[in-house]
Amino acid sequence: MPEMPSEQSIRKMRVFVEKYCEKSGTTVSPVEGVTEQVILGLAKNVDELGRPLCPCRFYPDKKEEVTHRTWICACDDMQIYKYCHCLLFVNKDGLPITEYLPENHEGRKIYGLVKDEIPEKGRALRDKGQEREEERISRPS
Ligand code: SF4
Repeated sequence: MPEMPSEQSIRKMRVFVEKYCEKSGTTVSPVEGVTEQVILGLAKNVDELGRPLCPCRFYPDKKEEVTHRTWICACDDMQIYKYCHCLLFVNKDGLPITEYLPENHEGRKIYGLVKDEIPEKGRALRDKGQEREEERISRPS
């Protein structure tokens, strides 16, 4: 059985998720187990790396990855586009918001157009879309 993250990191991530839902106008997944698994993955990365690196992606080198802020939760895609790959932050129907994503983004291909019903909240880095798309090409991760 895989080792559990520390209680302290689990608690820290639970509080973060609750606050970030409120701040971003999103909710946690209604699908049982999804939130818990992502929180455990984030907490494990806090224990191992000192930062809540997104647990839903593969990184050739996790330590190198944390030197970028791209996939530190809440990641750039969340803060720019309000899109959560892990389905941790979703709309009331349990779908990730895809409205602001570039049309060729994987999220649009998978989920189609999912509108943001609470546009007044979230997207603190909304002006960074251009930089993010340049990075997606120069440093795919
Ligand atoms: S996709 Fe982004 S917002 Fe969602 S859990 Fe991963 S890092 Fe956090």
